[in-house]
Amino acid sequence: MRLMIAPVPSGSAARRVFWLRSAAAVMVVAAVRGGSAPPNDPAPSDAPQHNGFRFSPGTCEQGSEFCALATPRAWAPAEIALVRAALDEIAASDLGRWITLRARRNGFVTLRRFAHAAELDAEGRYGVQPMIVATTHTDAGHDTRTIDLTDRFFERESARDHFSGEPGYLLTTEILAHELVHAVDLRQQYSGTAEFGRVARLGMPVTRQRDADRVNLERERLNGEGRYEAAWEASRSFGIVSLRGRLPSVQALDSYREAFAEFGAHLALDPNARRRFEPRLLLFFERTVSEAP
Ligand SMILES: [Zn+2]
Repeated sequence: MRLMIAPVPSGSAARRVFWLRSAAAVMVVAAVRGGSAPPNDPAPSDAPQHNGFRFSPGTCEQGSEFCALATPRAWAPAEIALVRAALDEIAASDLGRWITLRARRNGFVTLRRFAHAAELDAEGRYGVQPMIVATTHTDAGHDTRTIDLTDRFFERESARDHFSGEPGYLLTTEILAHELVHAVDLRQQYSGTAEFGRVARLGMPVTRQRDADRVNLERERLNGEGRYEAAWEASRSFGIVSLRGRLPSVQALDSYREAFAEFGAHLALDPNARRRFEPRLLLFFERTVSEAP
């Protein structure tokens, strides 16, 4: 049977539906700030903080073209409260606490607020990415490290997952955990290994891959209509029903990087994840945590 491994259909509609992904691969040459300005410190010192993270307004290191599209915002008090609660919920589990610590140790301590996500296209010009709600950002030299949240992230404020028990995690909490796992996986030190490739098993028979493509189009439609819980349910159903729980969601199929973030976020937040994932996948995460320097 022919296998397809994490295909990225070039330029097709399917490419655009992956709204949850890191921009770590986006090589952005940030404007170098002068002299001895410390890296990872775009936030003013009086910015609100929580559990080692700083709430910074959007900043413009990526240049004026990026900034004009992404549109920096200030944090509203209710938004800070939502993210504080999400950080607490993530840190309530052992794995979530480890993820939080490692993300911070990798220099991701700044949470920025923008209206939109903007990414470079093939011609090197920025474009707004309406399906991306959060981004783990590093520039080319990895001097600037931030997690950026958009208006669309906050539109999901009360939406919940219905496969993780009652009441189920908030989608915003999972999205933030997913980004923190990207921050742990800096330079794909975990998701880029041959061992993770073996345990993640992203190879799909062609017919199953077509199912995944259909689900992604459905998600794009539902998210475009603001039906976030229904879009999430479609994604989760693919992993939990079609694949009998082996993958947490359809977006895990986007790439090994995305799979690592989705597995990690669900192991931290979903009490059902441990009995659904394959034993060797669980072992991989246990070893990752126990052997980390
Ligand atoms: Zn991602």
